[in-house]
Amino acid sequence: MINFHYARASDVADAVQQIRADPAAKFIAGGTNLLDLMKENVERPTLLIDITRLPLKTVEETAGGGVRIGALVPNSDLSYHPLIEQRYPVVSSAIRAGASQQLRNMASTGGNLLQRTRCAYFYDTVMPCNKRTPGSGCSAIDGINRGHAILGTSEACIATHPSDMCVALAALEATVHVAGPKGERAIAIADFHRLPGDTPQRDTNLDRDEIITAIELPAQGFAKNYTYLKIRDRLSYAFALVSVAIGLEMDGRTIRQARIALGGVAHKPWRDIAAEAALNGQAASPEIFRRAADALLRDAKGFAHNTFKIELARQAAVRALTQAANGTPQSQSSKKIA
Ligand SMILES: Cc1cc2nc3c(=O)[nH]c(=O)nc-3n(C[C@H](O)[C@H](O)[C@H](O)COP(=O)(O)OP(=O)(O)OC[C@H]3O[C@@H](n4cnc5c(N)ncnc54)[C@H](O)[C@@H]3O)c2cc1C
Ligand code: SF4
Repeated sequence: MINFHYARASDVADAVQQIRADPAAKFIAGGTNLLDLMKENVERPTLLIDITRLPLKTVEETAGGGVRIGALVPNSDLSYHPLIEQRYPVVSSAIRAGASQQLRNMASTGGNLLQRTRCAYFYDTVMPCNKRTPGSGCSAIDGINRGHAILGTSEACIATHPSDMCVALAALEATVHVAGPKGERAIAIADFHRLPGDTPQRDTNLDRDEIITAIELPAQGFAKNYTYLKIRDRLSYAFALVSVAIGLEMDGRTIRQARIALGGVAHKPWRDIAAEAALNGQAASPEIFRRAADALLRDAKGFAHNTFKIELARQAAVRALTQAANGTPQSQSSKKIA
């Protein structure tokens, strides 16, 4: 039995004050990731600060034409919210491609950004893992690495970020709003998650005494030409081997603006401006899609068991671009189960 304390935060300032006071404290929202990590003895917080009663549960339009999503909006509520379904369907699709309905009912928007890798060695406390125990080594590099990263890896860690929602947020250029002891700040989603480098223990650029308060989506939602394509070992309830979020602004068959982000391939959602540049201003065609996919994967490097992911990602990108350009996104279940 490992004891820990429990406290409830009364408002955002109180949450920040409490986490600042205890270096081993953690916030708990839906608990769908943190409690598993505690049961496996991977995370050992001395204090759980319950943030579920904070007033961060609304989805509101912003003055600039975008949408601000409270950090405690449950994943399922977000995916079925009319503003999100109609204006940002790639976010709805990505969320519904993840986990199960029951988990999505519990999981929060902020927690989804901070879920930790699914690398099996990270969860197995008898195995070396630089992310769990810095300096101990990486068991995956010469181990079973079928699900691991092919882009942006380092000699210290080849883990992937497992979120589906974050891949869509990366394609849309979302902003993460946070509050901490020094006040509030906004972090572009591209700068929120980190590559492993030699500090794989740090997943994000959020300071440990900061709380996520909201995610903001800009006005442009690519609602007509989008897709979220997720390739996994079984049709549901599995993490992505590779996923692709696409948003296209089309003028007839000409691509005016392209957004493309990959999931399941790196320590963070992988967006590549060069691949998007290969599409902008071009007529949609299989050839131009292949060129963009080649640009996207140009620096990919496989390990003993995951080299197949390079070609898988290339083909998934071409398929996703075709679906988005044709206005035929990957179908998703549309009924909410309570
Ligand atoms: C079996 C299973 C399958 C899954 N499959 C998928 C999948 O296919 N795709 C996918 O994307 N996800 C999947 N998930 C992950 C799920 O989406 C996440 O567990 C969930 O989004 C985390 O949200 P939460 O509110 O439960 O976070 P918690 O578990 O409460 O917290 C997670 C972390 O975030 C921190 N935190 C939470 N909220 C805040 C905040 N506002 N500010 C600062 N820190 C905060 C906590 O301290 C903790 O470190 C799966 C989970 C399980 C258990
Ligand atoms: S890939 Fe990263 S998380 Fe997995 S064992 Fe190596 S260091 Fe740990």
